[in-house]
Amino acid sequence: MSEKGQISISAQNIFPIIKKWLYSEREIFLRELVSNGVDAITKLKILAGDGKVALDDEPLQVKVTFSTDAKTITVEDNGIGMTVEEVRKYLGQMAFSGAEEFIAQYQSGKDGIIGHFGLGFYSAFMVSRKVEVESLSWQEGAQAVRWSCTGEPEYTVEESTKADRGTRIVLHVADDDEEFLDSWKLREILRRYCRFLPVPILIGDEVVNPDPPLWVSKPGDLKDEDYIAFYKKMFPADDEPYFWVHVNADFPFHLQGVLFFPRLNRQDDLRSDRMHLYCNRVFVSSEMNVLLPEAFQYIRGFIDSPDIPLNVSRSFLQQDASVRKIASHLSKKIADRIVELSTERPDEYAKMWKELHPYVKFACMRDDKFAERVSAAVIYEKSDGTFTSLEAVLKQKYGEDYATDTTEKHIYYAVPGETLRSLIHLYEEAGLPVILATPPIDSHYFNYYESKHHDAKVTFQRVDSALGPELVADLPEVVDADGRSVHDRVLERARALLPEVQFEAQKLKKSELPLVLVIPELQRRFKEMIAHQSPRSENPFGAHQCVLNLRHPVIERLDPAHAHPLSEETAREALTHLYDLALLPHKKLDPDAVDRLFVQAGSLMGRLSGDV
Ligand code: ADP
Repeated sequence: MSEKGQISISAQNIFPIIKKWLYSEREIFLRELVSNGVDAITKLKILAGDGKVALDDEPLQVKVTFSTDAKTITVEDNGIGMTVEEVRKYLGQMAFSGAEEFIAQYQSGKDGIIGHFGLGFYSAFMVSRKVEVESLSWQEGAQAVRWSCTGEPEYTVEESTKADRGTRIVLHVADDDEEFLDSWKLREILRRYCRFLPVPILIGDEVVNPDPPLWVSKPGDLKDEDYIAFYKKMFPADDEPYFWVHVNADFPFHLQGVLFFPRLNRQDDLRSDRMHLYCNRVFVSSEMNVLLPEAFQYIRGFIDSPDIPLNVSRSFLQQDASVRKIASHLSKKIADRIVELSTERPDEYAKMWKELHPYVKFACMRDDKFAERVSAAVIYEKSDGTFTSLEAVLKQKYGEDYATDTTEKHIYYAVPGETLRSLIHLYEEAGLPVILATPPIDSHYFNYYESKHHDAKVTFQRVDSALGPELVADLPEVVDADGRSVHDRVLERARALLPEVQFEAQKLKKSELPLVLVIPELQRRFKEMIAHQSPRSENPFGAHQCVLNLRHPVIERLDPAHAHPLSEETAREALTHLYDLALLPHKKLDPDAVDRLFVQAGSLMGRLSGDV
């Protein structure tokens, strides 16, 4: 038997087109041929399962070999093989997919078969001047067959002496493509594309796919150690991930995968190859960041789905409805997992939150749905060291129905490193919880949160933005013969001593706090915004009020009617000194300024002790 045929396709000569098409991804020929071999073995296993074929002990595997002398690459499997008719039909009719026919016949094996997505068998011509196929079918008494084609539409089919079941494909590599005749190169391609195929793939003696893909196991069957071990194998240079999200969806699309939240202490965090997309375990792309919310681009993940269109450009992929659905599914899963962690392992969560929070907040600001889902897990450390959600703060202070009533609601916050501890204590003693904010993300997040809770009139107030009535001691006002109180007299004196400072006076609940610099919330935010936009412009600390605490032992002695009033000089010095100290957190610490304050404090103490 020896015959010639024409590959039936409409274009007269498809091969030059194939060669050009996907030129940059010529290496996928190996993925296609190895996948075909894996499919052939999967089909054989199904037949064996149905009792249609008896298997001996030979290991079922796909082998890749090459020869630099002969300039060939060989892909060989011991799967079902092809009969003469099948070779004619499958390799002669390009548009025909044998897989479809097989699935129709053997429904049970559907899940194991790799769908046709690339160019299939014909991608071999991207790198070959000639392709030879030798095959022996599993069927009783089948005749081995040899098919060869030089890239013209003509091919030859003839008898072969192949004695063992399966298919051997020999690629005679074209001169331009000799780079593929290299063991390192072939290994690298196989490790990338075939790492999770369900049948052993060998190059030389090495199995390129020793590790089963974690995502095909049921989440319930896996322990933490399994996820960690898998992660370490995949990313040996990384520390253990913080946590992971196992995705397993059947409807409205098929999707399996695991997303890992890595630790962020590494320098290469912005590498692009973080999301690996597979289609029925065959690697397709590592540039699938379109699947993740913008804020979580640093996640490392493996997604396996036959439902992602694989032959379209990346920019088109972003528009694709199924891709968008998958992306929103993943975002929902991420939110759910974060909430789950926050309730199930609150201590561990609080620790990882220190790194995680900017990303979660950013994701919230980009996606209201995500924000709603995750809101209970957006936590803040309170000044007492415990953690709380913003909802919990509001509920505690304004009741369960806070969202529907329209009284003004404040959430008080402090900025560690900028806010004085004693001021926070003033709030704590008044029973007002204070959350600790982290600029700059929280400046943005608070704005976002306020706009989302606009109807409930929620606003964030930094503890030094105002001193509300809750912080003021309820003490009787004593007026002198002229109708003037301590308040009036102290204020008058302070204003006379330091006319450039804008003074106010209050009887605060805590007596050890001498004075507080107050900057209205909106004014400070505005200044911050300007400073952010042009860093060289004004200091965000602008116009402010200096509120004197009339209950402080030094401040009260500013009152000329006090039993031990301060002398003019001591009063000026004490006031200046306290004011300068209060300014300190708002200024960059300059060693000379600190030195001056130190000397001032010494002289002041001497004077005060002499003053009494
Ligand atoms: P696809 O795999 O997408 O169906 P291909 O062009 O790669 O398209 O292959 C066409 C058909 O040829 C396959 O469906 C299969 O029936 C047959 N075939 C290809 N390679 C092999 C192989 N190694 N062993 C058995 N059959 C094969």
